[in-house]
Amino acid sequence: MTLRGRLLLAQAPLALALVLLGVMAVVTLGRVGRSGQQILEDNYRSVLATQRMTEQLERMDSAALFIVAGDRERGVAQQAEQRPRLESELRVQEGNITEPGEAEATRRMRTAWERYRTEFDTFLEAPDAARTHDLYFKSLAPAFQDAKRTAAAILDLNQDAMVRKSELLSRQSQRVNTLMVLAVVAALGVGLFFSTSLVHRAVRPVMVLSQAVRRLGQGDYAARAVVDGRDEMAQLGRDINTLAERLDQYRQSSLGELLQAQAVSQAAIDSLPDPVVVLGAEGDVLNVNRAGEDVLRLRLEGGGDVLGRVVPEVREVLERVRAHVVGGHGAYQPRGYEEAVRVEAADGARWLLPRGSPVYGETGDVVGATLLLQDVTRLRRFDELKNDLVATVAHEFRTPLTSLRMAIHLVAEGVVGPVTEKQADLMFAAREDCERLQGIVDDLLDLSRIQGGQLLLDVKLVRTEELVESALDTQRGAASERGVHLLRDVSLDAETVSVDPDRMQLVLGNLVGNAVKHTQSGGEVLVRVTPEEQNLRFEVRDTGEGIPAEQQAKIFEKFYRAPGAPAGGAGLGLSIAKEIVQAHGGTIGVVSEPGQGSTFWFTIPKQA
Ligand code: ADP
Repeated sequence: MTLRGRLLLAQAPLALALVLLGVMAVVTLGRVGRSGQQILEDNYRSVLATQRMTEQLERMDSAALFIVAGDRERGVAQQAEQRPRLESELRVQEGNITEPGEAEATRRMRTAWERYRTEFDTFLEAPDAARTHDLYFKSLAPAFQDAKRTAAAILDLNQDAMVRKSELLSRQSQRVNTLMVLAVVAALGVGLFFSTSLVHRAVRPVMVLSQAVRRLGQGDYAARAVVDGRDEMAQLGRDINTLAERLDQYRQSSLGELLQAQAVSQAAIDSLPDPVVVLGAEGDVLNVNRAGEDVLRLRLEGGGDVLGRVVPEVREVLERVRAHVVGGHGAYQPRGYEEAVRVEAADGARWLLPRGSPVYGETGDVVGATLLLQDVTRLRRFDELKNDLVATVAHEFRTPLTSLRMAIHLVAEGVVGPVTEKQADLMFAAREDCERLQGIVDDLLDLSRIQGGQLLLDVKLVRTEELVESALDTQRGAASERGVHLLRDVSLDAETVSVDPDRMQLVLGNLVGNAVKHTQSGGEVLVRVTPEEQNLRFEVRDTGEGIPAEQQAKIFEKFYRAPGAPAGGAGLGLSIAKEIVQAHGGTIGVVSEPGQGSTFWFTIPKQA
């Protein structure tokens, strides 16, 4: 049955009770009404008839008295008028016998009336006044009294019956009253009881459904709505169950896929030989791969301050890279091997080079950082070996190179004997090459000394202007040879600077020399010094060929030479400059665009 049907059915008991009550009321009211009617029909008509008969009897009597009094004409007329009326009333009474004893009384009335009528006829035929008078008092008046009494008896009979019946009626109506009240209460009670229970049964499925939906809403996808039948509620229940099933399946499948995807990505990062740590924006450790657990001894189990349990150096590096990435500076790339952090592992020391990339949240903001600690132990070892080799080779080259140069010089100058012009040309070229070779060897030795940690700075307060001037002086010859103008612009606020003057001259000389080398004739090289908040900023600006962006990071590396760079260098000048600037606590960099010239800059702290 449909819900609408059920709700309608729930009204049925009340409606039925109402109908029953109505029928009952109509029937009982009809009965009471009929009882009243009955009284009217049965008795009131008789009462009326007897009263009228008594009245007509009395008027006949008064007619008789008229006659006795001598007014015969009027008396005769009056009595003649009454006779048919009385006759008809008597017939009415004879036709309305309802009470016990009434038939008998009426019969008596008929007898009494007939006797009175006969007596009256006799009275009318009386020959004279005396006889009339006599007859009246002797026979007519007693007959009159008799008839009147008989009529009164009928009247009493009927009046008594009326009183009796009306009492009965009132008792009856009182009973009906009580009965009706009881019936109303009972019908209301029963109707209400059945209606309520039917309504309850009709809406119970709604409760079941709403409970199921609530549990589904709370994430309990195992909840089902059990509603039997074929109505709308059962259909809704089935629909909800289908929905729950789908949700459950979806959750299971998406959860499964998610778990699988997570396992895959975990396996992927676990397979990396280098430690990987994922940090949240607040520095909490979100994930770590197996290498991370082993090498950094970083364990997620146990919770708490996970980072606090790793060695301080590693922790410091992780925090720094995370701060860089989370601070919105993009991915973190190390500047060089020198950034590698040393970690003691079971199989000896390891050098780890940190890299960081942002983890983006749903809204696109950085919510964490993935840190990769690249194991550069072997690379560093190679680097050290190379440095050692270079240092040894340079050192071993130095003495023979000096004597070679000396020998070539002596031969070229003709000290040890005459040489032809051609021989002298060859000797001069050889001497030039020897000098260049000596420069490279000097660079190499400088570098190996610097990298060996032997760069001891001899810091003095020097006049900036002089520093720049002497650096420019070393390059004047080359500049004028190439037709390049050298300019200088030292701010008045940058009068002095605390540096190791020889080393700083080397740096500036290197930068200016490079600038001159890479600038065409007619171009210019400007050295500028300007104060910054805490630093002095040195700039060497040229109007030369510029440096492509992809080379800019590499030119500070050792032995890096741009493809097609003019012969003569070993790719060491800029790396030496970088080492010296960093030893002074400053930073070095380049701003350049191909065809637009380059600006090499470095900073030196005002307070060394
Ligand atoms: P090198 O002594 O071989 O010049 P450097 O370390 O001084 O080595 O320079 C490295 C490379 O940087 C050079 O090969 C050159 O290509 C490039 N470079 C340096 N300075 C400039 C400059 N002012 N303009 C263009 N390229 C430059």
